[in-house]
Amino acid sequence: MHYTCPSCGAINRIPTDKQQLSGQCGKCKQALFNGKPVDLSDSDFQRFIDKNDLPVLVDYWAEWCGPCKMMAPIFKEVCGELQHQLRFAKVDTERAQMTSQRYGIRSIPTLILFHQGKEVDRLAGALPAPQLKQWIAQAMNKAMTK
Ligand SMILES: [Zn+2]
Repeated sequence: MHYTCPSCGAINRIPTDKQQLSGQCGKCKQALFNGKPVDLSDSDFQRFIDKNDLPVLVDYWAEWCGPCKMMAPIFKEVCGELQHQLRFAKVDTERAQMTSQRYGIRSIPTLILFHQGKEVDRLAGALPAPQLKQWIAQAMNKAMTK
């Protein structure tokens, strides 16, 4: 399975049956599973959603957005729990304007689940952790049956 390093972006090959292990990046030696969402910009967004074999959940947010700030710790918490099943990433819509426009982000927070570079499902608005996990489970199902 291909898995990009959250620290340096290098593509690592890791065995699917050893995902529970705390892998290290072959290039920079940082932990591959660090429990934190990866911040993406216009320049590394496409590569990240293309080069990871796990589905990628992206949180589109902005500094001035209240509900986004409420969502941030929930997103991080769920990332810590589910990081072996999917990747968690964040896009600052003020900075990554090309990416946000390309996916037609009109309200924030918006979450989009990508698999193999394609949008599978999206959700607008903040949710508490249990509901967020429910939505992720449904979206993951869609991703796997597509
Ligand atoms: Zn690395």
